[in-house]
Amino acid sequence: MWLSSPRLYYGSDWTRGRLTFCWNMKKRIVGFHLDEEQHWVAELECGHNQHVRHNPPWTIRPWVITEEGRDRALGHELNCKKCDVGAPPDQSDLH
Ligand SMILES: [Zn+2]
Repeated sequence: MWLSSPRLYYGSDWTRGRLTFCWNMKKRIVGFHLDEEQHWVAELECGHNQHVRHNPPWTIRPWVITEEGRDRALGHELNCKKCDVGAPPDQSDLH
């Protein structure tokens, strides 16, 4: 029976790794704001904020300091680590 094959267990490990990969929370950027230190922060659709410059591979780039560049970045997806850990939505008190 294939169910008792050791190969299945290798397969399970592989599947679990792949599931973990798929569980990376991709959230769309819905806006931007500057924090109190004048760093650009992306606002994600899940209600979390994420510093763009502190999150490789999204190092700071010219696009983030121009309105046009930010407009183009809207709708792009960032992996939200706060969703990964189940953090509550960030308060956006800078509006
Ligand atoms: Zn999130």
